[in-house]
Amino acid sequence: MGAYDPRMTVPLGDDPRAALVAERDRLRAEVAEGIVAPEPMTYGSQAAAASQVFEQQRDLALRDRNDRQLAEVEAAIARLDEGTYGMCVRCGRSIALERLEALPWAAHCIDCQRIVGRGG
Ligand SMILES: [Zn+2]
Repeated sequence: MGAYDPRMTVPLGDDPRAALVAERDRLRAEVAEGIVAPEPMTYGSQAAAASQVFEQQRDLALRDRNDRQLAEVEAAIARLDEGTYGMCVRCGRSIALERLEALPWAAHCIDCQRIVGRGG
């Protein structure tokens, strides 16, 4: 890359790439090591067993969410590279700046997000 050309970037206050790369690295680390480091259950009650099952289910859900979010973050970085970052992948309109600031990897404008209905 090289010279910083403000016309080539979405007018975010900060470089979204830094936030995206940091988030990607964080998610990769989480996905790689698994979310859980469960505390050993020393009080073997039924409640503890039940809560362990609950935690396993929650961890699976978290891991699934992490995988999905990692894919979204990587896609956003790819869009930065392509120069399409900040455009809705569905309708091609600009994604609202407030939305990108809140969710730098957002792939859809708010209208399309409602239609596709995924989280975020
Ligand atoms: Zn859209």
